[in-house]
Amino acid sequence: MGGVPTLIAFFAHPDDEVLHAGGTLARAAAEGHRVVLVSATDGEMGPVREDQVRLRELASSGAALGAARVTTLGYADSGHGKDLYPDPPDRRRFVRAPHEEAAEKLAAILREERADLLLTHDAGGGYGHRDHVHAHEVALRAARRAGGVRTLTAAIPLTAPIRLLRLTSLLTSPLALLRGPRTFRTALLRVEHTPRARITHAVDARRYASHKQAALAAHASQVRGPGRSAGAFRALVNMRTPLFAALLGREWWTEVDRG
Ligand SMILES: [Zn+2]
Repeated sequence: MGGVPTLIAFFAHPDDEVLHAGGTLARAAAEGHRVVLVSATDGEMGPVREDQVRLRELASSGAALGAARVTTLGYADSGHGKDLYPDPPDRRRFVRAPHEEAAEKLAAILREERADLLLTHDAGGGYGHRDHVHAHEVALRAARRAGGVRTLTAAIPLTAPIRLLRLTSLLTSPLALLRGPRTFRTALLRVEHTPRARITHAVDARRYASHKQAALAAHASQVRGPGRSAGAFRALVNMRTPLFAALLGREWWTEVDRG
């Protein structure tokens, strides 16, 4: 073997790589690791778009983070609502892809890259998006198939999102203050927190906050859109970098037991 370990970041949608792993990936790339981004989906609910806007944004995000390669397994987004829509005419929604099929596609990339480390969603998928949960399960199978790959899942300790929500809510709208604790509590309920004891790695990537912030800004279609998550994205993109670093400069991981 020898050489510097190669990291593969496997997440469900373009933009998932930033908030969970952007700092870790930027720091790893700056320290000489080969970093590869793999998105399970192209981020689209409908037929493949000619302009491939979200994949182009993913490529820009990867460039901001220092990734050497950016690719997708090519599935469609399964959406987060109550209903799972039928597949678009040209491809399957990710959650309908059999585990073994998707795992073999990812394992092929792990083998080709001689990957040492695989970063992915946690078992609960953060806030439970069906594609995030599916990506976690697929990643674990792929790592087993490829062999010799350590797997780390994104961890969210209780303190970080509280600070994040507080600050982004304040920046998004002063009215959030008036809506007060109930808004926070509702939002917090959606996020599944990781008990401290389960966290195996803490990554201080505050020095790379500007890279992470640039990667977030690269997902312009998500920053522009309506809705609460776009508002939060905008607040983060427009935030002064030292504050962004204080808020999102650290990332946490749980190593999956090998066996
Ligand atoms: Zn996602």
